[in-house]
Amino acid sequence: MYSPKSMKAEEFINDKEIKETLKYADENKDNIKLVNDIIKKAKLRKGLNHREASVLLACGNKEKINEIYELAEQIKKDFYGNRIVMFAPLYLSNYCVNGCLYCPYHFKNIKIPRKKLTQEEIKKEVIALQDMGHKRLAVEAGEDPINNPIEYILESIKTIYSIKHKNGAIRRVNVNIAATTVENYKKLKEVGIGTYILFQETYDKVSYERLHPTGPKHDYIYHTEAMDRAMEGGIDDVGIGVLFGLDKYRYEFTGLLMHAEHLEAVHGVGPHTISVPRVKKANDIDPTEFDNSLSDEMFCKIVALIRIAVPYTGMIISTRENQEIREKIIKLGISQISGGSRTSVGGYTLKERPHDTEQFDVSDNRTLDEVVNWLMKSGYIPSFCTACYREGRTGDRFMALCKSGQIQNCCHPNAIMTLKEYLVDYASEDTKKIGNELIEKEIENIGKDSIKDLVREQLSKIENGTRDLYF
Ligand code: SAM
Repeated sequence: MYSPKSMKAEEFINDKEIKETLKYADENKDNIKLVNDIIKKAKLRKGLNHREASVLLACGNKEKINEIYELAEQIKKDFYGNRIVMFAPLYLSNYCVNGCLYCPYHFKNIKIPRKKLTQEEIKKEVIALQDMGHKRLAVEAGEDPINNPIEYILESIKTIYSIKHKNGAIRRVNVNIAATTVENYKKLKEVGIGTYILFQETYDKVSYERLHPTGPKHDYIYHTEAMDRAMEGGIDDVGIGVLFGLDKYRYEFTGLLMHAEHLEAVHGVGPHTISVPRVKKANDIDPTEFDNSLSDEMFCKIVALIRIAVPYTGMIISTRENQEIREKIIKLGISQISGGSRTSVGGYTLKERPHDTEQFDVSDNRTLDEVVNWLMKSGYIPSFCTACYREGRTGDRFMALCKSGQIQNCCHPNAIMTLKEYLVDYASEDTKKIGNELIEKEIENIGKDSIKDLVREQLSKIENGTRDLYF
């Protein structure tokens, strides 16, 4: 039986409800009155439920699709302004005991060299990331209780936070590791992680079990209920996502929204972020083996629909996507992107991009400076802000500020100030020039004169060497 409030995976992600939703969407995809009503509801900026959003996904009417795109762009502007938060992944270890068919880390892959960073190596990677200008990382690791036990992850996070190289600092460490116990989530919370990220990969239980034939990740229920355990362990910012291409995208889209609805219904706060990775070529992995790949056009539509269905949830895109696609979807709803990423264990300390231990082929190979430069030329403010969770603006507190629009009062000045830090410490001359012009323009967009003056004051402090100023 379907119940968003249930704590049982198969009741909050209910196969029958998803199938009925898809049937309902098929029956109503040409029902223009209903489609109009749903779009009208989305314009209230309070979101849509999985049934409503699924009707819009099925709808093929060009005019309505354009309306959805326009609305997504508008909602993106209203909630996130022109800010794009920057981050980089840090791969700690590719040892893994799971048998995931799409992932090069699967334990049977003898073609991939196995590597686990020592604390000394982590230090070097972090210094390399700091020297690029990064302030926010997503720690990634395979699942291996012997090689990568929770103690190793915790120690690594402490190491990352402890390194202060020149003006560098990693101020927020998000974590993407396998589903674990409430006890372990408590420990992650204690070492001060930002968001706990875990992709569902696929919400379809049958496909899930086929795609994860062996290892602890095979357990669909344990994996699907992970976010509830994370929240029970005190982590109130969680990031969900599916790996698009593994299973039918309409099923996944509905499941993803049902998961968000469940978290909101049970914990009073939905996911902090939603990621939209697509399966990529990798060592021992041929993505064409998965016949559910998603066209670029449908991918854009999904991003736009997630944007209007959960307006207050951040959306993340990685360097799995190339510049062209990133450009399109940033406009439609993405609020966080990675830049200068290396998806191999120990990749940041090497001069040339290594491919041997990579988790997936990177499609956007530009440096962080190039990505920052490009974003600014496209009218965005690259933000290195990490203030919210350090100020306790997490979980329902963050969502309340977000829903009321008040969050803008912090985010916009913080984006300007952290960009200024980046420009002073790390940017190339050209990026600096474009950035300083952008900052001048953006200060004028601050409503209150008193805040404008305060930001100017903080900017001159940054010029004079003060760091880590935020509201
Ligand atoms: N090991 C952790 C787990 O099992 O959830 C998470 C870390 S894994 C390094 C991060 C994510 O990379 C996975 O959740 C999966 O969605 C994604 N991934 C795996 N193989 C991929 C591929 N071939 N192309 C794109 N993304 C992939």
